[in-house]
Amino acid sequence: MSALAVRGITKTYPAQPPVEALRGIDLDVEAGERLAIVGRSGAGKSTLLNILGLLDEPTAGSYQLHGEEVGRAGERRRDQLRTDAIGFVFQDSHVLGHRTVRENLGIKLAINRVPTDQRDGRVRSSLERVGLVHRIDAPGRLLSGGEKQRLAIARAIVTQPSVILADEPTGNLDPANSDVVLGLFDEQAQTGVAVVVITHDMRIAAWADRAVTLESGRFRPGVLTP
Ligand code: ADP
Repeated sequence: MSALAVRGITKTYPAQPPVEALRGIDLDVEAGERLAIVGRSGAGKSTLLNILGLLDEPTAGSYQLHGEEVGRAGERRRDQLRTDAIGFVFQDSHVLGHRTVRENLGIKLAINRVPTDQRDGRVRSSLERVGLVHRIDAPGRLLSGGEKQRLAIARAIVTQPSVILADEPTGNLDPANSDVVLGLFDEQAQTGVAVVVITHDMRIAAWADRAVTLESGRFRPGVLTP
């Protein structure tokens, strides 16, 4: 069974005239696979990521997460899966500047209702994984750009998701820090996490196990060259 299985997903935004952002998407992502989705601005990448992340619902089609039909599951179940099964990483780290590194992660664990006595251990092990334990008491605003993105990844993995969805995760980073981010995604994939990255960056497309190109709401074969 695939981690993610999408069949015939369409998404039409109500507008005058309606916008067909996705026009029949089929996609399987296996556990431990690193998939890059590339495409020009307006191709439908964010729309697809929002649907995969249960932030938006498809107009039609099927979306199975670990075999469970979730595309139009009830709101409570979608909320639960979004917080428990999926880790999000965005271009902007969304680190809370006035909270410490520990607090930035603790808030996520509180949202996920992880028991209090487990939180410190989870925080430490995810910070160890991203190489940020030494900054545990630093306020977010004092972190460098690369450190902030490592904290964003720690926040995505502290809840031990089975899927990571990343939107231009290296967009604000220099090549060295980008490599750190990709290395962290590698480690997650090696533990069986499915990693899906939306990107304009051809280095990421080359890094991934597989890259697909989205064009006007459909996949087309081959990788787009900018
Ligand atoms: P990408 O992420 O590849 O730039 P998007 O998924 O953001 O593409 O957008 C795909 C298409 O859907 C674009 O034509 C965009 O203008 C349109 N679109 C996105 N969101 C909305 C919305 N909320 N309402 C109407 N049209 C939208």
